[in-house]
Amino acid sequence: MAELTPLEEALKVVIESAKPLDTERVFIHEALGRVLAEDVLSDSDKPPFDNSAMDGYAVRHEDIQNVPAKLKIIGEYAAGTGEKLRVEKGTAVRIFTGAPIPEGADTVVPVEFTEVSDGYVIIKKSFKKGANIRRKGEDVRKGEVVIPKGKEIRPYEMGMLASVNKAVVSVYRRPNVGILSTGDEILDLCEEMTNPSQIRTSNNYMLYGQVLGAGGIPHNLGIAPDDPEELKKVLRNIHKYDVFITTGGVSMGEKDYVKYLVQELGIDVKFHKLRIKPAKPVLFGVYGDNKLFFGLPGNPVSTAVAFDLLVYPALRIMQGYKNIFKEKVKAVLERGYRRKNADRREFARCKVWYEDGMYKCEPYPKQDSHMLTSLVNANAYMVVYEGVNELKEGEEVEVILF
Ligand code: AMP
Ligand code: MG
Repeated sequence: MAELTPLEEALKVVIESAKPLDTERVFIHEALGRVLAEDVLSDSDKPPFDNSAMDGYAVRHEDIQNVPAKLKIIGEYAAGTGEKLRVEKGTAVRIFTGAPIPEGADTVVPVEFTEVSDGYVIIKKSFKKGANIRRKGEDVRKGEVVIPKGKEIRPYEMGMLASVNKAVVSVYRRPNVGILSTGDEILDLCEEMTNPSQIRTSNNYMLYGQVLGAGGIPHNLGIAPDDPEELKKVLRNIHKYDVFITTGGVSMGEKDYVKYLVQELGIDVKFHKLRIKPAKPVLFGVYGDNKLFFGLPGNPVSTAVAFDLLVYPALRIMQGYKNIFKEKVKAVLERGYRRKNADRREFARCKVWYEDGMYKCEPYPKQDSHMLTSLVNANAYMVVYEGVNELKEGEEVEVILF
């Protein structure tokens, strides 16, 4: 039997095969989480004009050098004002935050340090020239890049987009991902059981969620039977998708037709079978122009692990993300972990939490690849490297958060 491919090697192949997709234009409301495919420039200076940082009085600095100083109030500047007053010697304008600085004034005295009497304001404290004024262009200059190409749009970037009057932006397209389960025994959601050896699918819906979570557009194509002709009918449609994921049918069984059909369909198989546990029988190939085919194993936990380790980074690259992997941190093992066979790198499902200034980790007791509870009751994969039979309590381990 062919050698098992080490994970690093497999990942390298996947990463080299995944290419950023073309771009599309979206409205700001839909831009959250997308990756910018253009530099966004400022349409104007920010702030666009000198304005007050405080509620108070706009004055001439020379008038408040000796305090208390008494100045005549000549009017009021609210934010958005259209007033055109001039602050002459011995006068002041009542001003509010965000209002432009009236001509002649060069300093704002906050209202807390003033008192009003009979049309005059008494300034009780002196301030430096220019105090409490936000300067035109001090944040951003017109034409400056405010969000560079390649940046992921968070709510803060949405705020910036609005502020530079950018209603539509260019982002990388999200990949369309076909999802197909295979197996005569697999029943779809709500489908009636007709024989006791049937199994309800979890993979179609788990993958649907995983694809969405990675930013892709999932297309659930249901379940194909273990029949080469039927399977071929569905697999002929792979060209409609940027990425195609099957589950089941890639193991050692005679009815594992996916692995035979891929060649017939012209998929260039890059690897099949990895040195990892679970999810050893992963098949990966490329087709069309930079389209990716993942034949994942049928066991739900294997499917999940294979997706998180290999499909996830591929989908992220296609959308232009720089950060393509799930977060990995170090955690202290709260309970020891042993295994007999240390041939493969294991991704043991575990619970990770933050306590006393560190991450702590506890492996879930049931680790078989058909047991979905090991995912539902966990939030991370603990990495057990090749050659390691035992991890002791108190030891530091690597965990991949999910
Ligand atoms: P296979 O890789 O086809 O040999 O399947 C391995 C195991 O995963 C078998 O026990 C299948 O019944 C199970 N399995 C396959 N597809 C699914 C699915 N969509 N949902 C849940 N279990 C599945
Ligand atoms: Mg099967």
